[in-house]
Amino acid sequence: MSLDQFLKRPQEKRKQKKEEEVIFKELEQEEVEKLKEEKKVKPKKEDLKKPVSEDGESLEGIILDVGYDGQNAKAYLWIYDLNTQTLKKWLDTSGHLPYLLSNLDVTEIRTHHANVLRHRGFAELKTIKKFDLLRDRPIKMTKVIARDPLSIGGRINSIRNMLKGNSWEDYIRYHKCYAYDRQIVLGMPYQIRDNKLNPIQPEISDSIRTQILKLFESEKEEYLLALDQFLGYFFSPIPNIKRVAFDIEVFSKADRIPDAGKAEEQIIAITFAGTDGLKRVLVLKRDDVEKGERISECEAELEIVASERELIKEAFKILEKYPIVLSYNGDNFDLKYIYHRAINHLGFQKAQVPIYMTTTPQSEVAHLKNNIHIDLYKFFHNRAIKISAFRNMYSDVSLDTVGKTFLEEGKVCLEQPISELCLHELGYYCLHDSELTLDLTTFNNNLIMNLIILLMRITRLSMEDLTRQGVSTWLRNLFYAEHRARAFIIPNPEYIQRLKGEASTKAMIKGKKYKGAIVVKPHPGVHFNVVVLDFASLYPSIIKTWNLSYETVNCKHPECKENKIPETPHWVCTRKVGIMALIIGLLRDLRVKYFKSKAKDKEISKDEQNMYKIITQSLKIIINASYGVFGSEAFPLFCLPVAEATTAIGRDAITRTQNRCAELGIEVIYGDTDSVFLK
Ligand SMILES: [Zn+2]
Repeated sequence: MSLDQFLKRPQEKRKQKKEEEVIFKELEQEEVEKLKEEKKVKPKKEDLKKPVSEDGESLEGIILDVGYDGQNAKAYLWIYDLNTQTLKKWLDTSGHLPYLLSNLDVTEIRTHHANVLRHRGFAELKTIKKFDLLRDRPIKMTKVIARDPLSIGGRINSIRNMLKGNSWEDYIRYHKCYAYDRQIVLGMPYQIRDNKLNPIQPEISDSIRTQILKLFESEKEEYLLALDQFLGYFFSPIPNIKRVAFDIEVFSKADRIPDAGKAEEQIIAITFAGTDGLKRVLVLKRDDVEKGERISECEAELEIVASERELIKEAFKILEKYPIVLSYNGDNFDLKYIYHRAINHLGFQKAQVPIYMTTTPQSEVAHLKNNIHIDLYKFFHNRAIKISAFRNMYSDVSLDTVGKTFLEEGKVCLEQPISELCLHELGYYCLHDSELTLDLTTFNNNLIMNLIILLMRITRLSMEDLTRQGVSTWLRNLFYAEHRARAFIIPNPEYIQRLKGEASTKAMIKGKKYKGAIVVKPHPGVHFNVVVLDFASLYPSIIKTWNLSYETVNCKHPECKENKIPETPHWVCTRKVGIMALIIGLLRDLRVKYFKSKAKDKEISKDEQNMYKIITQSLKIIINASYGVFGSEAFPLFCLPVAEATTAIGRDAITRTQNRCAELGIEVIYGDTDSVFLK
């Protein structure tokens, strides 16, 4: 090598490296986009062991999950087979494909966006009819269909990016798009026969149906149609789904909480408690730890496993047998720990581990490839569950506190660090946590599981999504599904904003764009004989009775302008029933007019009463959350005039009550949002 060559070499190398870096960065970018999408679209459950429903096989079961199978390029459902109590995967047979909508017509796309037609995933263009609620008119849209979800969105060169500004409903994840179009109600029973999916209609007795219809006889037709649809959700039986709870213990020095991402310490115990009565206690053999004496309260035999690898393998075998796996903090600890421990420290191949991790902006999620994982910690942590359903009964979300609240039983008290316990004590301690976790879903006739299934039906979310995501996602999903079912276009937030403009009242609360609720300054002193007047779900009632919805407030019909909303320049539609008013109103009325009294009906059995109580509770959660969600700018159907109108009418109701009290000589000593304290 000459000196020249020698001097040139590193430069060339650097240059090459630089080029590589650029390409790599681009690739990386694409990978990132792809990964993002893969995380959105449920990752492939490639090494499936469970039987996929085969041609001609018939099946009856409850749909628990919906996803996208990349290998087969089809949407799939996880169905809990009522006969075998196993989870079956069913691949779509309708030929449904991913798509987005465009306001450009077919010719415009052909001539001005020819790159769309050249896209490797492009399938076809179709003209379809939709209804634009905001402009109150039917519209023609072009359905741009692709062969796979990534061609629609998620990559730099996706069709969505080629049609930027003219593309609608392109942000909806494919498996959701599929579920909306096929009007699949997760949590409901379906039948598969000749490879076709059909809902199983619940039997509602004529007397109940008549009784309910009578309560709603003055309502408009839209209302009755929706009533018919929703009634099924509450009267379809809910099976007791086979499930197992598990818990792990990890060796730790000085009782530090081990880092699940690193998983550096040994897993020393794994226990299971199933609805079928299964109890297993697997502990790792450790030379420096004694077996100890059997604990009399422990209901399972101690199984001492020779190696950590064997321990995990056995655990995987047990988990495989249950359609639903329950954990308490499994997303951030137990399953995550096993995953990293198995792969990074014990030499497992990814294909041998039935767990995979995904990341959402909020947190990490641990999924199981062949079953559903519910992390109860996340469910009890949900504000709507904690506050609305259980009125802040538990002060924190630890297993100990939640257990004591619902089961009157907390964790086993330890006098020594976990790592110093003898094997019998360790096993008992760990099993007790699994039992508590299971019991949290079985107490009171499976109250929590029934609540989860009912909420899935109302919101159309999968079990994994419902138990992890916040109430804003619940309502978003519910309303997207209802829009699709009626062929209404789902408006982009900017579209609502553009047509419905800015707020008019001055914000009273900092950070809010509109004026909030009324607060009557408390009269100081000790008061006796105070009566509290409470408006039952004030905001949801206002939404219903005033027909508030993003499309009805400040609608485009000249004749509606007379129908003014107090204290605001806004008006509300007299011609059309608003979609938000319709759904929230229906749920509220069902609760108040029917289910609430049924829950107290002494004529029916305790079990039935209990079921009605849970229905009432599920409705309450959704209804109570509705205003908070509609009033939040982060909600995609947020409409400022609606938020303003709701609080304005609320203030008006309180003010009028105050005035009436003054006339009657009653002192209002305090008031807040939806209640007044009278003396
Ligand atoms: Zn109108």
